[in-house]
Amino acid sequence: MRSILKLSLGSALLLLVTSMSMGVDALGYATLGFSLPLTQRDIRINNNFDDAIANNNLSTHPNWPGYVGAELAMWKAAYEWGSSPFGDGSGDPTQLLIGEGGANFNPLWNGSASGSGSGWRNNIVHAPNVSGGGAIAWTYPSADGWLIEFADNSFEFADGPDDIAYPEMDIQAVGAHEYGHALGLDHSTNPTATMYPTIAAGSTIERNIATDDRNGIQSIYGVKDAAMPYIDSILGSTAPGATAIILGGNFDANDSRLWFNSDLLNDKDSGGEPFKISNLAATGGGTQIAFTVPSSGLEDGAVHVKISGGKHTLGEGHPFELGAMPPTDTLQLQGPAIGYAGQNVSVRVSNARPSVYYGIQYSFSTNGHAIGGHLFDLGLPYWTDRNGLTNAAGEGIVTRRLPGASLGKTFYLEAITLDNGVYEDSNVIRMDVH
Ligand SMILES: [Zn+2]
Repeated sequence: MRSILKLSLGSALLLLVTSMSMGVDALGYATLGFSLPLTQRDIRINNNFDDAIANNNLSTHPNWPGYVGAELAMWKAAYEWGSSPFGDGSGDPTQLLIGEGGANFNPLWNGSASGSGSGWRNNIVHAPNVSGGGAIAWTYPSADGWLIEFADNSFEFADGPDDIAYPEMDIQAVGAHEYGHALGLDHSTNPTATMYPTIAAGSTIERNIATDDRNGIQSIYGVKDAAMPYIDSILGSTAPGATAIILGGNFDANDSRLWFNSDLLNDKDSGGEPFKISNLAATGGGTQIAFTVPSSGLEDGAVHVKISGGKHTLGEGHPFELGAMPPTDTLQLQGPAIGYAGQNVSVRVSNARPSVYYGIQYSFSTNGHAIGGHLFDLGLPYWTDRNGLTNAAGEGIVTRRLPGASLGKTFYLEAITLDNGVYEDSNVIRMDVH
C-alpha cells in the first residue's frame, strides 16, 4: 500500500509566518508522479459522517442538483479542480467560482456509494469511525484509483455551505486538499496553496484553490485544450422520454457521447462507470446534441460531453436535473359509458385553455404511451380524432357516429391538447358499444 498522506492540524499560523520569511517565490507545488486516466475520473462518497453538523445543510442549490450535506460539500470540493466553472460556477458563498483548475482534467461526480469498497482503488470518499492520531484526513493515491478517509472520530466535520465555526473542520476545504492528492499532487510548500500540509480549524479558504495549485494540476494534465467539449445550456425537456438539447461546442459530428451520474451504483461500493449515451450526432457545427432522456439509469447531478481521443476529450461538467413528468389528467372528459353502433355519440372536453388544439384519442387498451415526454393513459395502437381549437371557455364538444363494426367492442377515450409544444391530457372514459 502506498504511504498515507496526512493533512495535519499543526500550529498553522506559526508555520505560515516561518514559511513566508523564506520568500514565496521559492515555494510551490510538488507532484506524486502519476496522473489519473480517463477511466479513473469518477468520484463517489460513502456518507457515513456521524456528526450532525456534517449533514445539516439541507438546502439544495440549483447549480448542484440532487445533493445536500456532506455529499454536496465533497462534490464541490472535487469539482474545484475541474477545467472550467461548473455550470455558472455558483454555489459556494466563500468563493466566486467553483471549477478553477484550467487543466485537461474534470472530475466525474457519481453520487453515493454503499461503503468504501474492498481495497482502496474504488474512488470513494468516506469517514471511518477512527482516530487519525493527529491527522484530519488522508488519501491513498494511485493512477489506478484512490481512497480518501476523514478521521471522523477525532474531529467535528462541518458541511458548510457558509463559513464554519472553530473548532469545526470544513469538509469542503479538507476534501479539496485530499482530492488534490487523488489527482496526483503532493504537498506544496506555498502557504497560500490548498495543498499546503496544514489547515486551521474553522478555515474554509482552502476550498478555493490557489494559483500554485492551479499550476500544479496544469503541470500534470496540461493546460486546458481549446478543443475540449463544453456545455453552455440545456434546452427542451429533461423529463424521461422527452427530447433535450445540449448546447455548447467542440462536439463530435458523428460520435459524441454523454456521460451522466449513474443511479446504478448507489447500493454498490465498487465500480464507477458513468451512465453513458454514445453515438450521438452533433449538429450546428458541433454545437448541439439532441437526445432522448432515458427513463432509467441516470440521476440528478452532472452531464459531460465526451469525444474520442486523448485527455482533453472529457468535457467540463454541467448541472443536469431530470425533469418532472408533466402532470396528467388536467383536462376533463365527459361522455356516456355505453354507445350504440350506428348512432351518434358526443363527448365533452373542459378545463382546457382557450383556443388550443384538442383532440380525442381512442384505443382498445390503457397500457399507456408517451409523446414528447408526456405520458398518456391509452395504449398502442391509438387513433386521434382532431377537432380544431377549444372555445373561449376552454371547452370542446365532439359528436361522431359509431360505425356498425364497433358493435360489441370496448373503447377507451382520452382528451389531449397541444399548445406551444406542451401536452395535456384527461381522465379516461371506458365506452362499451352495444
Ligand atoms: Zn495532504
